[in-house]
Amino acid sequence: MSHQLYPHLFKPLDVGPFELPNRVIMGSMHTGLEEAKDGFEKQAKFYGERAKGGVGLIVTGGIAPNFAGRVSPLASQLSWPWQIKKYAKIPEAVHAYGGRIVMQILHAGRYGYNPFCVAPSRIKSPISPFKPWALGRFGVRKTIRDFGNCARLARAAGFDGVEIMGSEGYLLHQFVAPRTNKRTDDYGGSFVNRIRMPLEIVKRIRLLCGPDFLIIYRISLLDLVEGGMEWEETVQFARALEKAGVHVLNTGIGWHEARIPTIMTAVPRAAFAHATERLRPLVKVPVVAVNRINMPEIAEGILARGEADLVSLARPMLADPEWTRKSWTGRRDEINTCIACNQACLDHIFERKIASCLVNPRACNETELDEKRAEKPKRVAVVGAGPAGLACAVEAARRGHRVTVFERRSEFGGQFDLARKIPGKEEFNETIRYYRTMIGKYGVELLLGTEARADVLGAGGYDGIVVATGVRPRVIPLLEKARAAKDPRVIAYDDLLAGRAKPGERVAIIGAGGIGFDVAAFLAAPRDRSISLDPKNFFQEWGIDYAARGGVTGVKPNPLSSGRTIYLLQRKDERVGARLGKTTGWAHRKQLLDQGVRMMPGVKYGELDGEGLWIERTVDGALRKERLDVDQVVVCAGQESENRLFSELETSGVKTFLIGGAKLAGELDAKRAIDEGVRLAARLEALLE
Ligand code: NAP
Ligand code: SF4
Repeated sequence: MSHQLYPHLFKPLDVGPFELPNRVIMGSMHTGLEEAKDGFEKQAKFYGERAKGGVGLIVTGGIAPNFAGRVSPLASQLSWPWQIKKYAKIPEAVHAYGGRIVMQILHAGRYGYNPFCVAPSRIKSPISPFKPWALGRFGVRKTIRDFGNCARLARAAGFDGVEIMGSEGYLLHQFVAPRTNKRTDDYGGSFVNRIRMPLEIVKRIRLLCGPDFLIIYRISLLDLVEGGMEWEETVQFARALEKAGVHVLNTGIGWHEARIPTIMTAVPRAAFAHATERLRPLVKVPVVAVNRINMPEIAEGILARGEADLVSLARPMLADPEWTRKSWTGRRDEINTCIACNQACLDHIFERKIASCLVNPRACNETELDEKRAEKPKRVAVVGAGPAGLACAVEAARRGHRVTVFERRSEFGGQFDLARKIPGKEEFNETIRYYRTMIGKYGVELLLGTEARADVLGAGGYDGIVVATGVRPRVIPLLEKARAAKDPRVIAYDDLLAGRAKPGERVAIIGAGGIGFDVAAFLAAPRDRSISLDPKNFFQEWGIDYAARGGVTGVKPNPLSSGRTIYLLQRKDERVGARLGKTTGWAHRKQLLDQGVRMMPGVKYGELDGEGLWIERTVDGALRKERLDVDQVVVCAGQESENRLFSELETSGVKTFLIGGAKLAGELDAKRAIDEGVRLAARLEALLE
């Protein structure tokens, strides 16, 4: 019988060697556990929990088939029989829950952070410091054998198959695209020659591993770089892969060096499902849709409209290992939704740290952060229903503690409630929905519009009090003076985002940290917000076109904007936005510049008079005084901790803990706030003994 809510998502699919119970694939993500101490045990627990959560098929993070293919010198490689026992721990853990898992074989090619990296031709990538060595004919043949050997060992370790990584600009992608393949031998030049290496790899794996070993090829459907593949070539390549013995075609969008966002929050949900929709009728094997699929109704829609046979979710499986089971059992509102921020997953990987998840700090920390319920539940008061307070309250209640949350405002969410107003950050609505559901599920008592006083809390019979009162925007002299003079032109960012002040038409933003950028995005976005959520407009804005080679028109993007005049100012004399997230900062910056936001570093702030805001800045080595003709100044000069209550509670005799922005305002973000909340909740029983 078909599933009532998601009949297509939960329809089994025969992929050749076996049947998948549903259409959900956990996509490959390098987590850093691959190289961590006790990494195999940690990966076993990590993937085991996802299998327990009901996902149809798991694809591991990429494993290199040889040394030159490693993403970095110490990255994982599977090449020797003595490794089989270690790798076997991963499929064993997944099979114990009835799940299926394939190992991804990834050769980084010129993306290898490694002076020995290789590529089809000696052309450096714009995002790597190392110029690759061109593989000779012998090198190509050896690499093909190494892929085969790696797959054979994966099979011996118990994996159900392999995924060959052929997209995102890695080695095999470098071979198929004229952008990076300038060879004149059998593996370069004509289209037939460029696709020869991946086809030989598929055939070799099929020969060595037999017909009952699943082979997935991850093919790029849109390269989003000049000199990429043409659509017709992609279709021919897909058909050739099918003929060579591939069971499933997973897909990829964009090279890592592409300057078009593909997975961050600003990309509309399922924006690239058109790509699989175009390919699917032209091949016989199942095709997998990818990117920005984070909720079951989105996945169901893609499958129901026939845009793909399967959906791949990578980051959403970090955010919630139980995504599939919750969807199956009609608990969609309990899904902890991936908000596509990249802050704890991809940004960590680029900073060479182990990945985790902003909304689920347990991701990749499964062996360290247990899920045990409290043996002796405590009575706990949490003050503040922002990210830190909510995370602590819900996790403590899930462990069995009795929790009461006090929130002064009539709404909960704190900084989340402001963040969700930012265009491109609509996903925070899901985080708020998640917490609302979990508060109900675990019986957290939520007292909105209730100021928590120290004397009342102290006498309330609580075993412990958690102060998560958050931050208040920093008030700089310009704002103080304007408030004293009742001049409404200078406002704090929260007044604007909470709707207490109307946006001006010519605005100076003081402070270009994360919030300053958010406020600039808020002011610069088209006044009709629904426009930017439409994938068609997204394609147009970023110049994406299937008809062009590589899928890019090369025409300068013409983003939609509000038409406001906006200045984004900072005192530091460094590139504005230099400290934003590694994998998303460039796109935020580019979009704002394209929308006409003027970014000015090295600014000294002067007075605001009837003519505008006076500033001083150095231009071409000379200090220049200038007037910005603005009708509003929005202050985004960081935050200060709101922790008065904590000091007042010090003499209450009740154990009190301080977390989140209330503890430390500098460099605060939701990632740290949630992490502190969850970790404190895990230790509450011991701390309150
Ligand atoms: P922030 O990142 O600390 O930036 C505040 C900026 O205000 C500073 O860069 C500083 O730059 C300026 N400033 C500080 N004191 C000032 C003063 N007295 N007068 C004038 N300017 C002053 O803080 P935020 O923007 O409020 O962000 C808070 C946190 O949320 C950050 O950790 C941020 O990472 C996080 N967040 C992240 C994102 C994201 O997209 N990843 C988005 C929003 C928020 P100058 O001194 O150079 O002017
Ligand atoms: Fe998703 Fe952000 Fe978590 Fe990454 S850190 S999985 S993008 S919510």
